[in-house]
Amino acid sequence: MLEQLSCTCDHCNMPLGDEQLILSMTTDAGTRRAYECSCRAVTITVVGDDVR
Ligand SMILES: [Zn+2]
Repeated sequence: MLEQLSCTCDHCNMPLGDEQLILSMTTDAGTRRAYECSCRAVTITVVGDDVR
């Protein structure tokens, strides 16, 4: 399923994808991803890929 991959900029609602991805870090709580939008806002998302 690809639906979890879609996210948007907190600031301007631009769709964010791999081209905007600047950091990806896996923790016990899930995968954190930081995106830098073309408006220079940084959006952090947490993908809980093992939800309990
Ligand atoms: Zn933006």
